[in-house]
Amino acid sequence: YNHKLERTEKLKIISDLAASVAHEVRNPLQVTRGFLQLLAHKAEEQNKSYFGMAINELDRASAIITDFLTFAKPEMEEVMLLDLNEEMRKIEAMMTPLATMKGGTLQISIHEKLPILGNASKFKQAFINIIKNSIEAIDGDGAGLIEISAYSDNRMAVIHIKDNGEGMEDEEISKLGVPYFSTKTKGTGLGLMVTFRIIDVMHGTIEFHSVKGKGTEAIIRFPLVDLIA
Ligand code: ADP
Ligand code: MG
Repeated sequence: YNHKLERTEKLKIISDLAASVAHEVRNPLQVTRGFLQLLAHKAEEQNKSYFGMAINELDRASAIITDFLTFAKPEMEEVMLLDLNEEMRKIEAMMTPLATMKGGTLQISIHEKLPILGNASKFKQAFINIIKNSIEAIDGDGAGLIEISAYSDNRMAVIHIKDNGEGMEDEEISKLGVPYFSTKTKGTGLGLMVTFRIIDVMHGTIEFHSVKGKGTEAIIRFPLVDLIA
């Protein structure tokens, strides 16, 4: 037999493994966090900070899984015909609770079918990372708004994700997608790197427009699939 695996085959095995490990590891992390919180309440005052540090480290591990591997489902690796409209509705349902928790509103406006090629899990991962950043950028005063719209233009599906959050300086915009670039105390700086890679694999493009203190808009384009070939 041939025990030398092809490189791509090996990569596939590693990414499948990483995906299932992520799913399995997330639950025990959450359970451990719960017990640590419980113990923190009962701990002597001088020991409380150790529990705080332990919980922070667990949160960091969870954040890495979220930015990297939340929706990596090994059984769904293949590329399929996706309706961008339908996929975006699912993402809206998943992200609305997070926006609400932050006192913000998520609005979506898509009025047509937009067939594109991609992997549903990866697509979700890419857009959750963008939308999560928007939610994290709005301040909690209740006026936070994230508007998602999509339409077809010149055989491309065009998606806008616009927030009225803290915005970015040009220098920050130029660093987006660079591994570990983060301005957040609890950031991983991995979210947009993953997003950029996925969009690239899907033959799409992404650009950011942002004004410090006003908000940010991401514009993503994918080639539309011509169904009436
Ligand atoms: P993380 O969210 O873990 O910091 P990301 O790669 O997702 O890592 O984002 C990198 C950085 O880009 C963020 O820390 C933030 O400074 C900036 N950023 C991304 N999206 C936005 C946005 N919508 N509004 C303001 N800043 C943003
Ligand atoms: Mg992020």
